[in-house]
Amino acid sequence: MEFDVAVLGAGPAGYTAAIRAAQLGARAVCIEKEPELGGTCLRVGCIPTKAWVQTAHSLHAAREIDPRLGVVAGEPSLDFGQANEWKNAVVKQMTSGIASLFKANGVTAFEGTGRFEDARSIVFEGKDTGITFTSAIVATGSYPVRPPIRGINSPRCVDSTGLLAQTEIPKRLVVLGGGIIGCEFASIFERFGSDVTIIEMLESLIPQEDTDASSELRKAFAKRGIVVHLGKECTQINDTGSGLDVRFGDGESVECDLMLVSVGRAPLVEGIGLEQAGVDFDPKKGIATDGHRRTSVPHIYAAGDVAGYWQLAHTSFREGEIAAENALGHEVEIGEPAVPRPIYTDPEIAGVGLTEAQARELHGDTVAVGRFPWVANARAVMQGETTGWVKTIHETAYGELLGVVMVGPHATDLIEAAVVALDAEATIETVADGMTAHPTLSEAFKEAGLVALERVIHLPPRRKTTSV
Ligand code: FAD
Repeated sequence: MEFDVAVLGAGPAGYTAAIRAAQLGARAVCIEKEPELGGTCLRVGCIPTKAWVQTAHSLHAAREIDPRLGVVAGEPSLDFGQANEWKNAVVKQMTSGIASLFKANGVTAFEGTGRFEDARSIVFEGKDTGITFTSAIVATGSYPVRPPIRGINSPRCVDSTGLLAQTEIPKRLVVLGGGIIGCEFASIFERFGSDVTIIEMLESLIPQEDTDASSELRKAFAKRGIVVHLGKECTQINDTGSGLDVRFGDGESVECDLMLVSVGRAPLVEGIGLEQAGVDFDPKKGIATDGHRRTSVPHIYAAGDVAGYWQLAHTSFREGEIAAENALGHEVEIGEPAVPRPIYTDPEIAGVGLTEAQARELHGDTVAVGRFPWVANARAVMQGETTGWVKTIHETAYGELLGVVMVGPHATDLIEAAVVALDAEATIETVADGMTAHPTLSEAFKEAGLVALERVIHLPPRRKTTSV
């Protein structure tokens, strides 16, 4: 069969690309090896983890209900079987939603493991069917990396997909890798009742994030009893038959029932016939593309984790759109959009633009920050969620906003105001002088802007050092 646009992989990048191509009038086909559409994100990533986050959040809210609010509730408990049913139901609803969208848009979906035969055709393994195409979009995503540590092949060492498949809560969970995925699961499982230990090789949790945010998370985790070992490498894992004995650092060890291995993901570039198609790639960095998402073969594009630096669903969505439009003769570049960095721990973290350290490296002494704590925000106080703050980062020559970082309630939703501000190249005055509904959590963004300009109303003035 012949198609205008063939997409390999139906994750956020692939399904978006296929739908966008069909919207533009193309005969579009999407080939996916799993029976359900939606990729890592919908099946074993964003969606099921956040369904668990919601269970963890509700459990915590029920446990911590403040009697001063006047609500009297019984002792809550976790029904993990029901929580898993809920998680699976949410996943099912989302994945079948993509199948309906394919139908509604006229996208042809084929199930099968696809591989480029050459630069004009894809074959599906196990079937004698193949397709030819005018343009193709590679969107095969990524896979979890397994570091070469002695003993890591024990069935008690699972990746994120393995952890999501658990039907019982481990009494003791070790999380290897304190990045986003590791910290999100640590946060969830501590709420579910596990004793959680994180072992991270670098000196901070979520090392790529703003250091104030990482420190705030570490403090919050310590309060919750999550043990964090930073700057420690895992050296060996022994399966004792009833659990794991995990060795790390300088002769230290910890015992656990299950270990999550979350040390990063690598682009899925092997075994998909990129060589036969003539597409250049690097096993670690993925497929090289230009701003149009075009690979070394001009009519073949790549989008999402397989070609991306970000490894996020929302960057994959946008890249999928861009690849499809360019495949059909448009001239669209990804440019440098503001990319939100959501982290669904408790407390939540979200950042966009530069971190404070990156801003200082680029702009030196002309960087100013404003930090507004949730404890001074009425809505956060009512909700009893006063951990954290909102921080604005700007340069003082023109007042341009460079970045925003938030730690605390609904940070992953609230960050959108900052995304729009950065995309609009807003100044710190725009942030500080604008109006926000009262009383809302959104006010903290404006207030951080006011702090940055030393005009804050709802905090006492910073103490000035007086010279005599
Ligand atoms: P994928 O979603 O991986 O999709 C690729 C698809 O290609 C898969 O369905 C795969 O089966 C298919 N495929 C591969 N090879 C072939 C082949 N040869 N033939 C046919 N099909 C093939 N991101 C966020 O933005 N927010 C989050 O909260 C978030 N949480 C996450 C939590 C976890 C536990 C994980 C693992 C990831 C999370 N991510 C999150 C990252 C996000 O899931 C990915 O960035 C996103 O799914 C990438 O989309 P993609 O389309 O590039 O690849």
